[in-house]
Amino acid sequence: MIRLLDPETIGQIAAGEVIERPLSVVKELVENALDADATRIAVRVRGGGLAEIEVADDGVGIVPGDLPLALRRHATSKIADASELARVDTLGFRGEGLASIAAVAKVTIVSRTSDADVATALDAHAEEIGELRPLAGPPGTRVVVRDLFGNVPVRREYLRSPSAESARIAAWLATLALAYPQIGFTLEHDGKTAFAFAPGDDLAPRLRHVFGTSSTTMVAVRGEGRHAGVSGWVSSPGDDRPDRRSQVLFVNGRLLRSTLLSGAWAAAYRTFAMVGRHPFGVLYLSIPPDEVDPNVHPTKSDVRLRHGDRVVAVVKDAIATSLRSGASERLQRAISFAPPAREYAGANDVPDAAGAPSAWSQTFVPGTFAGTSGENGERKTLRVLAQVDRTFILATDGDAVVLIDQHAAHERIVFEQLAANASAHTASEPLLVPYTFEVRPEEADRLDATLDALAAGGLHVEHFGERAYRVTATPARLVHAGRTRPFDVADFVECLGDDVRGLDADQRVWASLACHSVVTAHEKLEYPEMTALVERLQRCENPMHCPHGRPTIVRLEADQIAKLFKRM
Ligand code: ADP
Ligand code: MG
Repeated sequence: MIRLLDPETIGQIAAGEVIERPLSVVKELVENALDADATRIAVRVRGGGLAEIEVADDGVGIVPGDLPLALRRHATSKIADASELARVDTLGFRGEGLASIAAVAKVTIVSRTSDADVATALDAHAEEIGELRPLAGPPGTRVVVRDLFGNVPVRREYLRSPSAESARIAAWLATLALAYPQIGFTLEHDGKTAFAFAPGDDLAPRLRHVFGTSSTTMVAVRGEGRHAGVSGWVSSPGDDRPDRRSQVLFVNGRLLRSTLLSGAWAAAYRTFAMVGRHPFGVLYLSIPPDEVDPNVHPTKSDVRLRHGDRVVAVVKDAIATSLRSGASERLQRAISFAPPAREYAGANDVPDAAGAPSAWSQTFVPGTFAGTSGENGERKTLRVLAQVDRTFILATDGDAVVLIDQHAAHERIVFEQLAANASAHTASEPLLVPYTFEVRPEEADRLDATLDALAAGGLHVEHFGERAYRVTATPARLVHAGRTRPFDVADFVECLGDDVRGLDADQRVWASLACHSVVTAHEKLEYPEMTALVERLQRCENPMHCPHGRPTIVRLEADQIAKLFKRM
């Protein structure tokens, strides 16, 4: 039953411009169809929506007597009074949608409830509402909107081209469809079908439509807190985008601007130390209706959450957890690992490995191999085959050729080790003979600013004269033990500032330190060293990328190889 809201309730409703562009019309009409329990929603648009928009649904319909009321401002069936504003569970609630559209366009509503034999139509335009007339039509509601802004031509000047306006509609509707897989959606523009999503449980076609082919590697998110439940799909680590536009957010089925939770996405992703990149995906939040206030924005594109901080925390944890498992799954798929380097030393199919184990492999070996191989009988073993150009480690698991960037891989390992040292307050190892170095005056300031973070990571550097410093202790268990490498402090300081936006101050220092204390490209590695490096990489939280976001591992599948040979 549709009724007029009382003045008190009307006074509490966030007022403002509802119909700004063709998309606003589509939004209002589709939300009405969803509130009417439709199972199929068909949207037709002509001329970018300025010529005509039609939204047809198979929902509950409107009884003829209510039709004129539906077009009146502040008439709604969704809330009865102001008290219900505090727990809205429908998309609409202000009774303004149809009236706002009729104010700026010619509207025809045709509706039929399930118990009626025939549909009823009603025209409205500006202040005028016509006479009810019977019309043939299926159960459900069809609203046709013509000549949008015909009576307010200045409005049209703010619009973009018809194709740009229809692109907005297409993007919005396809995105909305992500939250309603059980409902079929079709969009037609100028007689051509833009998409047709069948009703059902299968979200895959919709994910692919919105996020592209990389949607197939998205990982599921699920989390539960006292004030929110979250589920959804996010891109796996490394599959990310340079902007946030593909972060889709629904709160209780309402598609919102994603800024509300972009902090949660960013915080979750920062644990992976990916720089300047953003994950993409879709999150569905369910929050008790009385803890969400949708009445804060005229177009309902934003909401207020009573426990915003706690909701953000739940979302952040859920994303971080699935990114982490996504990363290790991907690695599992990418490679699995060789038997211990110790065994390699005796294996005669690895000719070079017979040499004395280097300091490196000893640093790697203790305790690190237990349980990683043979734990799962089916896991394929990755065999290190060779070093290529003294830069890449070539390996295979029998299915694919795997290449590992030795520098990037080592950087990732050291970066995570430093971070772990810092959070575990691990003691560093004092140097018997402190290493002394000098820097230029302009570098001294930058270095000074990092000393605390370095110490947290285990590298103790102290002043030793005006421009001189000395390193008194190095991070425990740092993996370059035994390899003497002149630590290029000047270069380290130089690099502190660049290329690592998105990391916090400490992480920035560690990334730079990691970068400067590891094997570089063009450095010869022995088999045990390579094996150990690859093995250590496996246990990283985000093994697929170095702290700067570059890949550490690439995989050339058999079918890709076959293509190279023109076999496919
Ligand atoms: P609101 O959605 O805020 O209630 P609207 O102006 O959009 O306001 O719609 C007014 C009323 O008309 C709704 O409350 C609903 O009862 C009815 N209505 C509108 N569209 C439909 C539809 N597609 N199917 C069934 N009822 C509808
Ligand atoms: Mg509405």
